Amino acid sequence: MTSAYPDSYYAATAVGMHEHPSLQESLRADVCVIGGGFTGLSAALNLAEQGLDVVLLEAERIGFGASGRNGGLIGSGQRKDVLEMEAQFGLQRSRQFWQFAEDAKQEIRDRVQEHAIDCDLQYGQLEGVHKKRYLGMAQEISAALAERYDYPYTSALNREQTRALVATDDYLEGLQDEQAMTIHPLNYALGLARAAAAAGVRIFEQSRVLDYTRSDPATIRTATGSVTARFIVLGCNGYLGKLEPRVAGKIMPINNFLLTTETMDDARAEALIPGRYGIHDTRFVVNFYRMSADRRLIFGGGENYRARFPADIANFVRPKMLKVFPQLADLGIDYAWGGTLSVTVNRLPHVGRLAPNLWFAQGYSGHGISIANFAGKVVAEAIGGTAGRFDAFASLPTHTFPGGTLLRFPGMVLGMLYYSLKDRL
Ligand SMILES: Cc1cc2nc3c(=O)[nH]c(=O)nc-3n(C[C@H](O)[C@H](O)[C@H](O)COP(=O)(O)OP(=O)(O)OC[C@H]3O[C@@H](n4cnc5c(N)ncnc54)[C@H](O)[C@@H]3O)c2cc1C
Repeated sequence: MTSAYPDSYYAATAVGMHEHPSLQESLRADVCVIGGGFTGLSAALNLAEQGLDVVLLEAERIGFGASGRNGGLIGSGQRKDVLEMEAQFGLQRSRQFWQFAEDAKQEIRDRVQEHAIDCDLQYGQLEGVHKKRYLGMAQEISAALAERYDYPYTSALNREQTRALVATDDYLEGLQDEQAMTIHPLNYALGLARAAAAAGVRIFEQSRVLDYTRSDPATIRTATGSVTARFIVLGCNGYLGKLEPRVAGKIMPINNFLLTTETMDDARAEALIPGRYGIHDTRFVVNFYRMSADRRLIFGGGENYRARFPADIANFVRPKMLKVFPQLADLGIDYAWGGTLSVTVNRLPHVGRLAPNLWFAQGYSGHGISIANFAGKVVAEAIGGTAGRFDAFASLPTHTFPGGTLLRFPGMVLGMLYYSLKDRL
């Protein structure tokens, strides 16, 4: 089997990569999970732990999608900050969704420990404020979190304090979060797959689902086999394509790009990001970056909304890195790659059920490491009969992109370009 992974730093430093067979037969199972990213892996593992017989079908390889390509920043809360959440839903519901995100972080910590997943879990994140207009935001959010969310782990930092955590003049102030984390995402996905297989999940790679019947039980078909199952869980997110048009119009796929520099010596790495914090900023097209365990800068910046990635991703991302860190101009770039995530209109996850036996979770809008893992877990809980947290997520308002899957691009692209232009002004 050829490796379908992109030429990423993560694939090059993967621990315990294991090839699973492709589906070549007709099987029966309680649940068929489609997609081997965090959503699908977490659902499969949690379902198997409930004693259900689970088959997971992945079109390419485990962690092939966003889960094995992302920035590795595990943020606190939802994609929208608590002030936006309060304004939209009121304090009580905002607190509920904050707590879900805390549970999501805990789920990752627990899995890492329980299954001894070697994925370089580190604590600490910083949000850099790049624009005068956002001054004071860090203080307001930090105070709200301490006073109304029992979360005393953030601090608003002035320019000098921010600079002590990251050697750039890009930020006017910062929001430090000591309990947000960073992770090697592909190694975490591979660790989850190992845990799922040990719990009895039958995993098949290079087994793209072509379609499934709208029946109970349903039959899920690949080019070389099929699975007949009582339940289907859809975890395809930005890679969903045309598989399920009924949810495709609720998300828009967006491509994000990363590079990894060559290795730095200890002193240079320590001077650049002393505490190995994960850093992101307030730009609409966000920069996100951190130091790897072997002292390379992993820098994410820039996106596009087309089917194709830029021909030269390193040169697409590098100017954004140099704007933040002009002092890195001499460093070579060893890896550059892109990945596809999905956003929703309101930037909140889209979790639900299309039929009594067809469940889905998607649209984490760039905040998916924790929330995709959690969404997989709450779908598993609901299939097992405990629907409280699933119902709360499923009750979030969702909107269809204007024009559905056919026309969502032109309008959204114009909107995205407008906001990214505002970033630069
Ligand atoms: C470049 C980039 C940077 C990011 N950075 C961050 C970050 O720093 N922090 C953060 O929280 N989030 C980040 N995200 C978002 C986060 O990675 C995603 O939200 C999360 O990984 C989604 O997980 P998932 O399992 O739902 O989807 P994916 O990981 O994309 O998995 C979907 C899987 O479904 C499979 N599939 C699709 N169709 C089929 C089919 N027909 N049959 C079988 N399998 C199929 C795909 O091959 C794929 O493996 C980033 C995303 C990208 C792309």
